[in-house]
Amino acid sequence: MTSSGPIVEVAVFCPNLEPLDYLWPADSRFRQPPEVGIRVRVPLGPRTVAGIVVGRKHASPLPVRKLRAIREVLDPQPLLTETLCAFVLWASRYYRYPAGLAFQGILPPALKQERSRKRPVRIFWVPPETGAVEPTGRLGAASRALLAEVARNPEGLEDRALDPAGRKRARTLARRGFLLRRERPVEPGIPTAPEGRERCTIPLNAEQLAAVRAILKTTADFRCTLLDGVTGSGKTEVYLAVARAILDAGRSTLLLLPEIALTPQLTSRIEEAFGSRVLIYHSERSPEERQAVWDAVREEGGHCVIGTRSALFLPFARLGLIVVDEEHDSSFKQQDGFRYSARDLAVYRARQLCIPVVLGSATPSLESLANTQAGRYQHVHLTRRAGLGQTPHWSLVDIRGQKLTGGFSDPTLKIMETHLASDGQILVYLNRRGFARSLLCPDCGWIATCTPCESPLTVHQREHRLLCHRCGLRRTMPETCPHCGAELRPRGSGTERLEATLAERFPGVGLARLDRDAITRRHQLDSVLEGFRSGVTRVLVGTQMLAKGHDFHGVTLVIVIDADQGLYSADFRAAEHMGQQLVQVAGRAGRGLKAGAVVLQTRHPENPLLHDLFDGSYASFAERLLEERREAGWPPYAKLALLVAESTDSEAAWTALKTIHRELGPTLDPRLETYGPAPALHPKQAGRWRFHLLLKAASRHLLQLGCTQILERHKPRSKKVRLILDVDPYSLD
Ligand code: ADP
Ligand code: ZN
Ligand code: ZN
Repeated sequence: MTSSGPIVEVAVFCPNLEPLDYLWPADSRFRQPPEVGIRVRVPLGPRTVAGIVVGRKHASPLPVRKLRAIREVLDPQPLLTETLCAFVLWASRYYRYPAGLAFQGILPPALKQERSRKRPVRIFWVPPETGAVEPTGRLGAASRALLAEVARNPEGLEDRALDPAGRKRARTLARRGFLLRRERPVEPGIPTAPEGRERCTIPLNAEQLAAVRAILKTTADFRCTLLDGVTGSGKTEVYLAVARAILDAGRSTLLLLPEIALTPQLTSRIEEAFGSRVLIYHSERSPEERQAVWDAVREEGGHCVIGTRSALFLPFARLGLIVVDEEHDSSFKQQDGFRYSARDLAVYRARQLCIPVVLGSATPSLESLANTQAGRYQHVHLTRRAGLGQTPHWSLVDIRGQKLTGGFSDPTLKIMETHLASDGQILVYLNRRGFARSLLCPDCGWIATCTPCESPLTVHQREHRLLCHRCGLRRTMPETCPHCGAELRPRGSGTERLEATLAERFPGVGLARLDRDAITRRHQLDSVLEGFRSGVTRVLVGTQMLAKGHDFHGVTLVIVIDADQGLYSADFRAAEHMGQQLVQVAGRAGRGLKAGAVVLQTRHPENPLLHDLFDGSYASFAERLLEERREAGWPPYAKLALLVAESTDSEAAWTALKTIHRELGPTLDPRLETYGPAPALHPKQAGRWRFHLLLKAASRHLLQLGCTQILERHKPRSKKVRLILDVDPYSLD
C-alpha cells in the first residue's frame, strides 16, 4: 500500500543522494505543511537531522508505516526560493552529489546548523484585525501580557528587548498565529561599497556597443552569449552597460569572478559605477556579511552582486542577468565535495530563470567555443583594445643549449635591460613558486623527497625549508647530503630564485614578487599591486596570480620563463590551459601609451601551438586544439565522468576499481567507453593512493546512465576505500 496525505520531501543534511519522504502529522501544531525552502528537523535512524523541504505531494511510493513524521519546523519563512530549490536539486543530481549536502553547502554559515536562525534581529508585531492568520487555542496570563506589550509598539518589538523567557514565549505565540514576525539583518549591515555618487561610464566604442546590443536583444528569455574579447578590449565596460540596463529595470545582476581578492581594481570599478547597489559575496566575508547579502537579494531586485562560484546559489528574488568573467578559469570548477562547475551551472540557472547569461574571456574555453560553433551560444567579438593600448608583439627565445642564470637566458636579460633603460615596467611569469624545483646531491644522486607523495620537495630558501606543494609537508633544509655528506644543489627555478637573480643583476631597481608565498595577507597584495601601479616597482615576478585581469598601464615587457610547462603533459587539458595562461599574462603588456612586447623562453621553438599563439591569435590556437580533440573524441566532443578510488592501501583502491569494472563492464551500454583502472597522473598524495576509471560517451544521456549504474550497484565494499564520482572532471590529475 502506498501512503497518501500531506507528504513532505526533505533533502536531509546527510549523505543520502535523494530527498526522503516524511509525513506531516494531522495533529500538527502548524496548520499547513511547511513550504518548499524551509528548514525542518526530521528523524533519521536513531538521530534527528535538519534538512530543507524541497517538495510537497500527496502520495509516496513507500507504505505509511515506513514514513516518519517531521519533528520541527526551523524557519518561519522559506530560506530559498522555489526555483533555487529546483536548481540545487537538479545540480545535485547532475553531479551525483547528495542533495542534502548540496543544500547544506550553499547555506550561509549561520543557517547550516540545525539551530533555528539566530543572527538576524527578530521583530514581533500583532497582526492587524483582518490579518490572514487566525490564532488557535487559549492563552495564559504571561502570554496575554506579552501580547499587550507588543501591541503597544506600532513598529513592533525587537526580540532583543525581551528576556530569554519572553523571547521563547513570543516565538511560541508567533507559531500559534498570535504574533507575526519579520527579521532584520544585524549590524554591520549589507557589505557594500562606501556610499558615493555613481559615476558615469566611459562612452563605449562601436564594438562594445554592438556587444551590449547583442546581449540585451533578449532580456526576458534565455540566451547565452560568449563575449570573446581580446585582453584590454574593455569587457568590463560591456558588463557594466548591460548590468545597468538590468538594474534600472529593478532586477539583479550576478557577476561571477574566479577570485575576487586578486582583482581589487575590477571590484572598485564596479563599485564606482553602481555605488551602494553593489554587494560582495565570497567565502572570506564574515558570516554576518554573507547572511546580509543573502537576505538582501532575497528581499528585492536591483542589486549587483559580485561573487565567487558559491554566489550562484544565492536566493535571488529577481535575478535578471548572470555574467561569468574569465569563464575559462579552472577555479569555477569545485575540486572536492560538490564538484560543480559554476560556469556550466550559471548557464543552466539562466535557462531555468529565462534570463540572459554572458560568458566573458579573452581565451574562451574549448567547451564554450564548441558551443558557439554548434549554434547554442551567440558569439560576440571584441577584436581591438579599447583604451590606449595596442596588441603586444611576441617573440621566442630558444634556450636549448643556452646557459641560464637563475632561470634567465642572456638574450632575455638583455631585453630586460633595454626596457628598464627606457623606463618600462616588466612582468616575469613562472608558474612555480619557491626557490628551486628540487634539492639534489650531485655526487650520489639523492633527491629530497616527500615520502607521502613520492614527489620532490621544493626548496624555499628564505624560509630555509623544503616544502611539498602537494600535501604541504615542511622539512628543515639539510646542510649536506644525508647519504654521502656532499654539498647539495638546488635544481630548476621558482619565482623566489628569479627574484633573487634579478636583485643581484639589477641592483637598485624596484622589485617585487606576487605569489602565494609572498602574499599571505590582503594588505600585502594591496601594497604589491599599488607599488607596481605607482611605478615604484619596476619588475614584478610572479605565478599565475599575474595573469588575472590586472590593468597596469606601464607594462612594456612580459617575460615567460618557461613556455613549455604544459606542452607535453599527459593531462588532456594541459595545452589549452597553458595557452590561456600565456595569452592572459601576455595581455598585461602594452595597456598604456607605450607598446608592449612578450618574450617566451622555450626549448620547443618549432611547436605549432606556440606558433599559433606567437602569431597573436588565440583563435587559431584554440581551433587547432579543437581539431585534435574532435579527432581523438575528447571533450567538448565527448562527455566524461571520472570514478576515483582513494585509499592509503594502494592494493585496496586498485582492486575496488578493478572489481567495479569487471562486474559492471558487461552491463554497460557498448557505446560507453571505459578507460582504466589506471593510476592517477600523480598517483600518491599525502599518503593516499588514487586510481581512476574513466567513463566516456558521445552523449550526456549515455554518460548519466553509466553513472547511475555505477552508483546503484556499487557501494564501497571496504571502509578503506573512498569512491568519488566526478562528472565533467576538469583534470585527470
Ligand atoms: P578587458 O577586461 O577586456 O581585458 P578592461 O575592461 O580591463 O579590458 O579594459 C581595458 C582598459 O580599457 C581599461 O583601462 C578601460 O578603462 C579602458 N576602456 C574600456 N572601454 C573603453 C572605451 N570605450 N574607451 C576608452 N577606454 C576604454
Ligand atoms: Zn649524496
Ligand atoms: Zn607531500
